[in-house]
Amino acid sequence: MKKQLIHSMDDTYHEYLRDESKMRGAADSISFPESEAEIGNILRVTRENRMPVTIQGGKTGVVGSAVPSRGHIMNLSLMNKVKSFFIAEAGEAFLKVEPGITLNELRKAIDRLETPKALFWPPDPSESTATVGGIASTDAKGICFHLYGKSTSHISGIRVMNAEGSIRDLKSGQDAIVINGKSKDLQDVYLGGEGMYGVITELTLRLMPKPREIWGIGFFFEDREDGMSFSDQLKATSFEVQGANIAAIEYLDHTIINALERRKNELTKIKHIPDVATRIATMVYVEIHGDQEEAIEEIAEALMTIGSSFNGDPDQTWAFSGEPEIDKMRNFLHAAAEIAILHVEKVRSEDHRITKLGIDISLEGDGLKTWVSRIEKTLQKENLKAGYWGHIGSNRLHIDILPGSYGEFVKGRTLFETWAERFPASLGNAITSYGIGKLKKSIFLKTVSKAYIEDLHQMKKQLDKHNLWNPGNMIEVL
Ligand SMILES: Cc1cc2nc3c(=O)[nH]c(=O)nc-3n(C[C@H](O)[C@H](O)[C@H](O)COP(=O)(O)OP(=O)(O)OC[C@H]3O[C@@H](n4cnc5c(N)ncnc54)[C@H](O)[C@@H]3O)c2cc1C
Repeated sequence: MKKQLIHSMDDTYHEYLRDESKMRGAADSISFPESEAEIGNILRVTRENRMPVTIQGGKTGVVGSAVPSRGHIMNLSLMNKVKSFFIAEAGEAFLKVEPGITLNELRKAIDRLETPKALFWPPDPSESTATVGGIASTDAKGICFHLYGKSTSHISGIRVMNAEGSIRDLKSGQDAIVINGKSKDLQDVYLGGEGMYGVITELTLRLMPKPREIWGIGFFFEDREDGMSFSDQLKATSFEVQGANIAAIEYLDHTIINALERRKNELTKIKHIPDVATRIATMVYVEIHGDQEEAIEEIAEALMTIGSSFNGDPDQTWAFSGEPEIDKMRNFLHAAAEIAILHVEKVRSEDHRITKLGIDISLEGDGLKTWVSRIEKTLQKENLKAGYWGHIGSNRLHIDILPGSYGEFVKGRTLFETWAERFPASLGNAITSYGIGKLKKSIFLKTVSKAYIEDLHQMKKQLDKHNLWNPGNMIEVL
C-alpha cells in the first residue's frame, strides 16, 4: 500500500501549531517525511497547489519561527538518522546526519563512536530536544559560545532542497550568491536563515575532542553591579592554562533565581541543587573545560580570588565537576530559560493573546550595564516584572517581561519596540540570538538598516521566487 505522506490537519496534530513561544498558528496539512525522496514527493504536491510550507525541527524555538501561518507543515522529526562518520586527512572528525536528529540523540550517537579520544559537537542551546537542522537554521548560540564560537562554525557542509525539488550540496567558502552587487556565502545564507530559503536535508558536523575535565562554579553576589563587573573582569582576563580555559559565563538575576527556588520541588531535575539565599541579587555560573585537573584547579583558584574582589559570597559559592554534576548545573540553567515559558503558559490560560515577550541585548562592558539599569528603571516605573539572564560571557543578555495581563503584555511589547527604535548603533544591536521568527520581527525590522532588509528581500526573491518557504518569518513578503 502506498504510504500517505500528507495528512489533513485535525485535533491529533494541534500541538504542531505552536512552538515554545506558545504562539499558535494555522495550517491545512502536515507531513513527517522520513527521507529526502519523501521531501521531494511532498514538495511536488505543495508546489502544484502553490501551498506555502513551514519547516519544523524540534519546535523548541521561542520566537514562533516554526509556527505555521498557513498552508503545510513539514515536520522533520522522523529524519533523525546518522548517515556516516569519517576522519579527514588532516585528522578532523566529521559526522553526516539528517536534520531532525535531536541534540540528545546526537550525543548518544557520538558516544557510541569508536574513536581513540572521545568526541563531541560543541553547540548546545541547552534544550536537548532541539534538532541539528533547527540549530543550524537559527544559528543558535549555546552556553559555550564563549569558547567554541558560532554553532555554524561547527558545520562543514549542508545539503538543501528548494521548492522546485532541486538539491544542492553547499560548503562554506565554495558557493556564493550575488545580492545587490555584493557576494554572499550561500551556506551562510541558509545557516541562520530560519528556513526562509529552502529545507536543509543533511548536515556534515565537525566534531571536536571532548575535554576530559569539566568544572562548573556558581558565584553569588548581593549587588547586581558586582556580578556584572565580575563577568566583565572574566571577559577581559586570559585564563588559558595548558589548553584548559573558561568555556561559559552565564548570568541569572534574582527574579529568575527566586522563581527557580519556588519551583524546585516540582522540577525533579533541579531538586538537588543547593538553596540560594533570598538576599542574592545575581548568580554568575562559570564553566571550565580542559584535559588536566591541575590546570583547571589553577583557573578555579584565580576565579575565586576575582570573585572575592567583587564581594562574591564565598559561603554560597558552588563547585561541581564530572559529567553527572555538570548535567545538574546545565539543567538548572535550562530551567532558568524555561521560567518565562512556564509563566506565559500560566497567564495564557486567562488570555490566549499573550505569548513569550523577550528581547536580547548585546553590548560590550559598560554599555550592557548602562542599558540594563536603564531598562530596569523603566520597567519598574511601568510596574512590569522582568527576568534577566543569559550568555553574559558573549556580551548577551536576555530580558523576559513576565506580564500578568494582556494590558501588561501590550505595554511591554510597546516598550521593546521603542527601545529597538532608539537603540544607539554605537552601543550595539538588539540581536538576533534565539531567532527573529514572527514574534521579534517588528523589533528586528526597527533595528536593522533599510539596506539589510532589502538584501533579505533580494535573497528571498532569488532563492524562493514564489515565496513558498516559511511565510511570515523575519520579513513580510507581499
Ligand atoms: C529552555 C530553552 C532554552 C533555549 N536556549 C537557547 C540558547 O541558549 N540559545 C539559542 O540560540 N536558542 C535557545 N533556545 C531556542 C531554541 O532551542 C533554538 O532556537 C533551537 O535551535 C531550535 O531548534 P528546533 O529544532 O527546535 O527548531 P524549530 O523551533 O523547530 O525551528 C526553528 C527554525 O528553524 C527552521 N528549521 C528547522 N529545521 C530546519 C531544516 N532542516 N531546514 C530549514 N529550516 C529548518 C524552522 O523553520 C524555524 O524557522 C532555547 C529554547 C528553550 C525552550
